Amino acid sequence: MSKHPGTKTIGFNEPLIFDRSKEGRSGASLPKLDVPSVDPGEVFPKELIRDEAAALPQVSEPEVVRHFTRLSTWNFSVDHQFYPLGSCTMKYNPKINEWVARLPGHANLHPYTPDRLAQGAIEILWETERMLGEVSGMAGVSLQPAAGAHGELTALMMIRKALTDRGDPRKKVLIPDTAHGTNPATVTLNGYTVEAVSSTEEGFLDPESVAQKMDDSVAALMMTNPNTIGLFEKHIGEVAEIVHSRGGFLFGDGANLNALMGCGRPGDFGIDAMQFNLHKTFSTPHGGGGPGSGPVGVCEALVQYLPTPRPVKTAEGFLLSQDFPNTIGRVRSFLGNFGVIVRAYAYLRELGAPGLKKVSQMAVLNANYLLHLIKDSYHIPFGDGRCMHEVVASDRDLLKETHVSTLDVAKGLIDRGFHPPTVYFPLVVKGALMCEPTETESKEAVEEFAAAMIEIAELARTDPEALHAAPQNTRLGRLDETAAARKPILKAE
Ligand SMILES: *Cc1c(COP(=O)(O)O)cnc(C)c1O
Repeated sequence: MSKHPGTKTIGFNEPLIFDRSKEGRSGASLPKLDVPSVDPGEVFPKELIRDEAAALPQVSEPEVVRHFTRLSTWNFSVDHQFYPLGSCTMKYNPKINEWVARLPGHANLHPYTPDRLAQGAIEILWETERMLGEVSGMAGVSLQPAAGAHGELTALMMIRKALTDRGDPRKKVLIPDTAHGTNPATVTLNGYTVEAVSSTEEGFLDPESVAQKMDDSVAALMMTNPNTIGLFEKHIGEVAEIVHSRGGFLFGDGANLNALMGCGRPGDFGIDAMQFNLHKTFSTPHGGGGPGSGPVGVCEALVQYLPTPRPVKTAEGFLLSQDFPNTIGRVRSFLGNFGVIVRAYAYLRELGAPGLKKVSQMAVLNANYLLHLIKDSYHIPFGDGRCMHEVVASDRDLLKETHVSTLDVAKGLIDRGFHPPTVYFPLVVKGALMCEPTETESKEAVEEFAAAMIEIAELARTDPEALHAAPQNTRLGRLDETAAARKPILKAE
């Protein structure tokens, strides 16, 4: 057996479940009707009645179970193996969180339950808001937004309202060239225009460039700290001062909070509003498009604008209050993705302050260990041999010497049983390989991954064609990604 976990396994082909359908086959057995039958046409308005039965697949229970079980084996997950997808914080999610979220009192609670019958749920919301506020140094938190990007959007809506109330909504938002794509999207959706700020050669936000661009037309600066090249923005204090002195707000993209918890608080270094990605930092399985949760935290001046309803604690108990006249209103139906919030609550309660601090310390230690192991095989464009919670390498030297690119390295990793890192992001690093091991990986797992990275770099020099042909150990080989995006074949022939 190879030293890597590898990917050879039973790989079933699986047609669409509709193609398995056989007239009259069923997976359900219903008891005989013991009440008089009615014609739906007599009970419901005619226009709501179908002319033809819905085209549902007619399959037996084992066919359904096998179909979905087989499909599940096509997926790679953090429960299979190391998943260093940078920026996404693919940490292992403790199973006890799943148990807590599935407790009937949590999972079956109807969102229209009156407050007095949902005291426990509102208390969880109230406490989670306070715990996140404590971790971040923010004066107020709303759990409504459904994802990180939605939290960004909500924060900028609040900033816009605060500025509008001052009589000056302003026009632009500054964004560093290392930012995540959701930042400019947020700006545009809020009716602002984006102005990019370039980083220094060392990869930091440059206070001088900020000072040059920061004028009376700028509503906010959106920054990520640690930034997307895995470095702590060392000029953050100075940058905050410049933005505040010209009447702007400093937004912090909180997606990288996993590097800071218990060690530094965004609110203490000048951030006025930020989002939390509960599904990243606070352990909810993610990667399939949700559900996630992107609470937003704000400084004192913005608390009055938080979305409503807000959970409040009174002498008579907890309630959901609409009584905040300056609110931006509701940004999500009901109270956000409650199940994800419950998982974060369980995680926060389990770890406590010392545990959260250790999470961040271990995440940073693991990334630095990985950096140390691969630095002689890959070009590391930034960071003086050290990083925060993620390592950004590049294919510069490999490409020059062997024509093996980042894409080939990623495919080679798949053959060795690893999920590839984030590739070609951040854009300021050409051929980027952004690896985030997270705190949940053991020393051995980091070493196995580094060994695979090094083996690939060596193979690039001896047999580059082998890497151009990767992956070979998977159910499907290298896909034509352009055709897959432009001319997808969604139905098996
Ligand atoms: C993931 C991420 C986001 C967006 O968060 P979603 O929850 O995916 O919407 C924003 N910024 C950074 C730096 C991220 O890594």
